[in-house]
Amino acid sequence: VDLPASLDPVLADLIGTVNSPDYDDWVRQVHGIGGCSNPIHLAGYTRVRDATTGEVAYEYSSREAAGGVVLVRCGNRRASVCSSCAAIYSGDIYHLVRSGLAGGKGVPDSVATHPRVFATLTAPGFGAVHTVRPGAGGRSARPCHPRRTASCEHGRATSCQVRHGDDDPLLGTPLCGQCYDYAGSVVWQASVGDLWSRFRTYLPRHLATLSGRTRAQVAAELRLSFVKIVEYQVRGLIHVHVVIRVDGIPTEDPDDPVESQDEQTRDEDQDSGTAAEVVAPPDWVDALMLAEAVESAARAVVLSVEAGRSGAWSLRWGSQVHVRDITDTGGESPGKVAAYVAKYASKATEVTGWDPSGRLDTPRAVHTAAMVRAAWRLAEVPELERLKLGRWAKALAYRGHVSSKSRRYSTTLGALRQQRAQFRAAAGQTRRPSGEGWILDSFWELVGHGYTPGQAVIAADIARDEEINRAAFREAGAARPRAGGRDNARRHDDVTERGARVASQQQAPTIGGDAHNGL
Ligand SMILES: [Zn+2]
Ligand SMILES: [Zn+2]
Ligand SMILES: [Zn+2]
Repeated sequence: VDLPASLDPVLADLIGTVNSPDYDDWVRQVHGIGGCSNPIHLAGYTRVRDATTGEVAYEYSSREAAGGVVLVRCGNRRASVCSSCAAIYSGDIYHLVRSGLAGGKGVPDSVATHPRVFATLTAPGFGAVHTVRPGAGGRSARPCHPRRTASCEHGRATSCQVRHGDDDPLLGTPLCGQCYDYAGSVVWQASVGDLWSRFRTYLPRHLATLSGRTRAQVAAELRLSFVKIVEYQVRGLIHVHVVIRVDGIPTEDPDDPVESQDEQTRDEDQDSGTAAEVVAPPDWVDALMLAEAVESAARAVVLSVEAGRSGAWSLRWGSQVHVRDITDTGGESPGKVAAYVAKYASKATEVTGWDPSGRLDTPRAVHTAAMVRAAWRLAEVPELERLKLGRWAKALAYRGHVSSKSRRYSTTLGALRQQRAQFRAAAGQTRRPSGEGWILDSFWELVGHGYTPGQAVIAADIARDEEINRAAFREAGAARPRAGGRDNARRHDDVTERGARVASQQQAPTIGGDAHNGL
């Protein structure tokens, strides 16, 4: 095609893409990866030969693919980076959480009767911040900090009469940035892992106290399983949402019953444990007792951090500890809780307004930049070295994992990915002989990533279509009445749909079986 030189370069590239001879093949590939926003380009081949005759039984080479490369999903869990890959990640988290509540995916259905709660552990305050104060009973919002008080030593007002809306850019930012305790906030955030492990240690002790049993009795009779997810708040500090379930202890259980199973992975979950032997807890414990223990254990946690002349901190969870009974008889459906947790799995610091480029000067960008600077400053303090404040400064000092779970809670992300790979193989995508008598010869290398500007436009369109499909499936699932339970299984449709779409990709490399694991 002859294009005028003055044409917008993106448009010119778009026209070039659409008119290229292997456009259809390319679009098929992009559909296959759900319109992933930054796919990895692989070049190479897979060849399977008969060991005796040397005859080639299967062969696939990137030479057959559009542009001579095979596109593989980026696998990023953050929706702000790749909505398509993040949707797969959230879907996996959904199944992981749900199966630990309702059973399935290798977890016995009897877990549905175990006492469990959904708790939120919050961050304490480090200075007055602008906040939404919803009015009682549907009335309009109340003023932010209504009490008339004197100005602070920096001459700033310590009260705020504004009735902030949910989208006010000031929300979460301090009334006075100089009064705000940035050092304390980042030391707290960097210590969340320690606060959490202390909470885990206290929880069975508080159950012992509440039930009038000894710690040893409790340790011998029950195990606490959990899955947790962190959520950044607008003020830059995190909340920890956690599903806690009480299990019994199988008669032949070689493992330490309560502690040290906090297997953590930042984005991945390398768990090899099993939830198959989950057994019923003793009768004396119920969700009410668990909820009470969660609250008192959270309040009891205090952690002192001393750093000589740089400061000393007495760290706690925030005073607001929300605990909800989610046992089937009394609470919310497993699907609802799982959806709530999954929603946060694909997010990170976006809501805080943190801008790594440092160019934005919105109130929240300024606030979070001050947190990052405080983390850098304290990174030099020898006593705080183990908090790794420099390394995690850009995560606003939080150095833990977005999601984590105890070993026995339910299935693993690895297992769910495996399932997807098997589904695809079963759908006929990977027609490859296996077993003895065959020689596998495979070589793939990374040759690039992403799209040209014109390709990016088309890929974004495909990703949007996928998103609309997902939403349609969700709505269809929600509208379908289901007998015998409030929950619905719509996300199953999601995975099937995704699997089928991936399977419809003509040919894909078979390295590692799955894009998430392959690289
Ligand atoms: Zn992607
Ligand atoms: Zn305010
Ligand atoms: Zn001040």
